[in-house]
Amino acid sequence: MAERVLLVEDEEKLARMVEMELKYEGYEVEKAFDGRKGLELAQSGAFDLILLDIMLPQLSGMEVLRRLRRDSQVPVIMLTARDSVVDKVAGLDSGADDYITKPFAIEELLARIRAALRGKGGPGGQNIPLAVGPLVMDVDKHQVAVRGQSVELTKKEFDLLRCLLENKDRVLTREALLDAVWGFDFVGETNSVDVYIRFLRSKLDDAFGLKLIHTVRGVGYVIKEES
Ligand code: CA
Repeated sequence: MAERVLLVEDEEKLARMVEMELKYEGYEVEKAFDGRKGLELAQSGAFDLILLDIMLPQLSGMEVLRRLRRDSQVPVIMLTARDSVVDKVAGLDSGADDYITKPFAIEELLARIRAALRGKGGPGGQNIPLAVGPLVMDVDKHQVAVRGQSVELTKKEFDLLRCLLENKDRVLTREALLDAVWGFDFVGETNSVDVYIRFLRSKLDDAFGLKLIHTVRGVGYVIKEES
């Protein structure tokens, strides 16, 4: 049976786009454009997952979440404005399962939805997918895909990419990457990192016309969405 997603989002254009993509993926979708209606629908218990915007008319997403959590453990993914770290922290504190920053790539949203649904009922539900923009990594299956198209990586490339993804938006020094991927007892040059970064760029950024892996001059590397 199709899983049912409730989308509470007052930006109607965005809501329609997400609805279309989710339906295409086989989900049943219902929309609410304000917090009050969203809460009412969410409390009906008819949904497997809630996508909840924070800035909403009538009742904020935070307030919806707080009230919903009194008697429901349905997975909730918050949709937050760019860089509002406070919202993210507050959201996770009030019982959100995950959050995604707007604007987001639909692939990343889909990956987070799948993870939240998988984690449902499981212990802790700590199943955060590794994703940035249209790139998604499935660590268990050792697979990487961009826009659904799988990418062949060597073990070292995979490990390096995983390390970058686990620290998304955070700049990592060459030394930190070397330690994490090659191990502390690595004997050789730190430019191994640069070499493997080049490999990753060519297989990911160049091959798909993306800009995910960024050089921070004099410091190291960071994986993030183009902004
Ligand atoms: Ca909004």
